[in-house]
Amino acid sequence: MLRVGFIGLGAMGLPMARNLHRAGLLHGAWNRTPAKAEALAAETGTVAAETPAALAAQCDVVVTCVSADADLLHVIDAMAPALRPDAVVVDCSTVAAATAREAAARLAAGGAGFLDCPVSGGTEGAAAGTLSIMVGGEEAHLERARPALEAMGSTIVHMGPVGAGQAAKATNQIMVAGINQAVTEALAFGRAQGLPMDRLIAALEKGAAGNWFLSRRGPTMVRGEYPLGFKVGLHAKDLEICRRMAEELGVKLPVVEMTLVHYARIADTSAEEDISALFRLKSDMFSSADE
Ligand code: NAP
Repeated sequence: MLRVGFIGLGAMGLPMARNLHRAGLLHGAWNRTPAKAEALAAETGTVAAETPAALAAQCDVVVTCVSADADLLHVIDAMAPALRPDAVVVDCSTVAAATAREAAARLAAGGAGFLDCPVSGGTEGAAAGTLSIMVGGEEAHLERARPALEAMGSTIVHMGPVGAGQAAKATNQIMVAGINQAVTEALAFGRAQGLPMDRLIAALEKGAAGNWFLSRRGPTMVRGEYPLGFKVGLHAKDLEICRRMAEELGVKLPVVEMTLVHYARIADTSAEEDISALFRLKSDMFSSADE
């Protein structure tokens, strides 16, 4: 049986680690704030490691799910000397493709493998074990880590070599920005038309404009509630990655640029809120039109 370690018990990581435990694969976890790893250990009867290296030394696969590029490289460096030569690190954070390649290179010297495995599906998908996982890396590493991936996700797609998973995720994040723009702007418009919002969402979600974000976030945003799934600050971080990757091709993407401007406008109040908080900015357009 594969022994899997987990690093980064945040909004995504904690439910993903729980699913690894349900599948009988979780050996233990390390988290920067130790209380979270201790609570998971108490709940599951697994190990709360004192350091990333202590965890790495005991595992065949280590899954990481931390905030951003520098955080990933920090835990990679902390684990590198302790990883077994046949171990595979599975990174589910969203970082630049170049960072994934750098992480793989830093591990290669000791023999350990690396897969960039960014995920989509939000905290709901993480809890349900139905994430869509975009994989970059070698086929042999993917086959070794597959039982862990199957415990966390229901769609696992091998996109190509290391970095290809993150390139696919960047594509996804551009789409998420466009959907957030469209849904928040349209619902703010619908409300300004005096429409009954619950009935409007019920009608639209069954038609051509229906989508995951409208169904899951529409009913709450129109009540002025933005329950956390995906933080504005994290999506802004992802869009900065998309901007850099597009710039490497000499292109500026309108949806990326506009959404970064809008997120900067709401950052003071909403960086820690769900991205559906963009609805507030869109609604403000209509209230200032009344003035
Ligand atoms: P989160 O709730 O903010 O959790 C971040 C985790 O990373 C925490 O466990 C945090 O430790 C740890 N961390 C941050 N910096 C670290 C460092 N320097 N060293 C060690 N650990 C560090 O974030 P999240 O929503 O779970 O997102 C995690 C990743 O998944 C991000 O890359 C995000 O873009 C991606 N993602 C998120 C979603 C979503 O819907 N939320 C969906 C898909 C992908 P502490 O507990 O000590 O703070």
